[in-house]
Amino acid sequence: MSVSIPATRGRASLEVLGCAKNQVEAETLSSRLAGLGWELAAEPSEADVIVVHTCGFLESARLEASEAVARLRRSAPRAFIVVSGCFAQFLGGKVPPGADAALGTGELDRLPELLESRAARGFPCLGPEARGAAVPIPSSGVGRRRSPPSGYHDASFPRPLRMGQLSAYLRVSEGCDRRCTFCLIPQLRGKMKSRFPKEILAEARGLVERGVEELVLISQDTTAFGDDLRPRMSLPRLAEEMVSWDGVRWLRLLYAHPAGVDERLIRLLAGERKLCGYLDMPLQHLSDPVLKAMGRTPGESGTFRLLDRLREKVPGLALRTTFIVGFPGETDRDFRRMARGVEEGRFEHVGVFVWSPEDRTPSARLRARVPPAVAEERRRALLDAQSAVMDRRGRARIGEAVEVMIESSPRGWAARAPWQAPEVDGGVLLDRYPGRSGFFTARITGRKGIDLTAELVDHGDAPRLRRKPGFRGTGMLPVHRFPDRVMHGQDARATSIS
Ligand code: SF4
Repeated sequence: MSVSIPATRGRASLEVLGCAKNQVEAETLSSRLAGLGWELAAEPSEADVIVVHTCGFLESARLEASEAVARLRRSAPRAFIVVSGCFAQFLGGKVPPGADAALGTGELDRLPELLESRAARGFPCLGPEARGAAVPIPSSGVGRRRSPPSGYHDASFPRPLRMGQLSAYLRVSEGCDRRCTFCLIPQLRGKMKSRFPKEILAEARGLVERGVEELVLISQDTTAFGDDLRPRMSLPRLAEEMVSWDGVRWLRLLYAHPAGVDERLIRLLAGERKLCGYLDMPLQHLSDPVLKAMGRTPGESGTFRLLDRLREKVPGLALRTTFIVGFPGETDRDFRRMARGVEEGRFEHVGVFVWSPEDRTPSARLRARVPPAVAEERRRALLDAQSAVMDRRGRARIGEAVEVMIESSPRGWAARAPWQAPEVDGGVLLDRYPGRSGFFTARITGRKGIDLTAELVDHGDAPRLRRKPGFRGTGMLPVHRFPDRVMHGQDARATSIS
């Protein structure tokens, strides 16, 4: 059988900012470009094309994206720079200074076509005088329902994996139908569109066959998955299918909306050991007046009932949540209500945002502003309260033998316990690493910041699926992350809310 290798189109570099959802999109793009014959550039300064995949739902994220483009322009004056993702969508068709083109969130599929047409004119291609060719962005965001969302997995171009990588994110849907008054995401990402289950399962199978043992399901509103499909589908049904596979060891759910956590999901969390006993459920607040002003459901009593039910039905559940402090109108009483919920030890991991007025959101028009110094004080107080909880929990775990997943990361070996999601919940710092990826047993010895310390007590069982000798991934373009914006653990996860 002959394999045709596409002719080299040029050298490309892909930079990604923002959340795990962006990371997955960037990986998908990189595989597709590699499959189309784009070579990787060791450094952006050597690239003919630089794609900057951006975040844009907070002012700080947009500033970071602008600075990244400016920095790349300085290091690669003749490169063709494409800005893609939320910042491009926010700009509504304008090309930011320093870039050559912009592709909104519904237009990622057009990147190969855009680059082909530019490549036909030769790279390095454009001087500053030729820049400014805006690529129009549809005002409706991400297009019609039931059509596959843009920028998704294409089975012919599998996503890149690092050697020894055991964990991978898997997107189940795009966009959001809710209307939280502080949030720009529905404007940037459009209405919720579920991916077709067949397509998600094919991508998941492909990852598992290549050695992934932890699948982390993500989207803007994971629990809404399947609501727009006919026949309807649901997150628990999708999860049930994946945990039935031998190769899946851990399955993790991120960005569950509290209004979407139903009895079926709770039963699954309680009964399915592969579900990690972990749930990421951003609550944003715990006081009725603020939840109402935010446009969030359920209200205060419904939220506490849900928390009680989860604790009662799912023993050992690790809950992660995020809160916003300083929302307009938040009183001391509101804040105390939220702080009490944290002090009671209801959560294993907490991230905290300070509310910021995003021009295009309804909350930006609210007048009863909380002074920034007060908001910052509340943020610190909430984090301190959570830190005390984590300290108690960490001490209680000393001596406990736990399963840890060890895998290679760009910074070396890293270990995590089932109650720790990648990138945000800290990890387990081991006294030694066995020099290979896999699942091992470790004994907890203490806590260091948001991490736990532990000693390795066995060499684990062999990974369930081994890569073929010599496996080197998919010939993808490397996806460079800009300085890690994911602030570790109990600080705010700056780009992920739900
Ligand atoms: S905060 Fe989450 S649920 Fe609310 S509108 Fe934004 S993405 Fe949707």
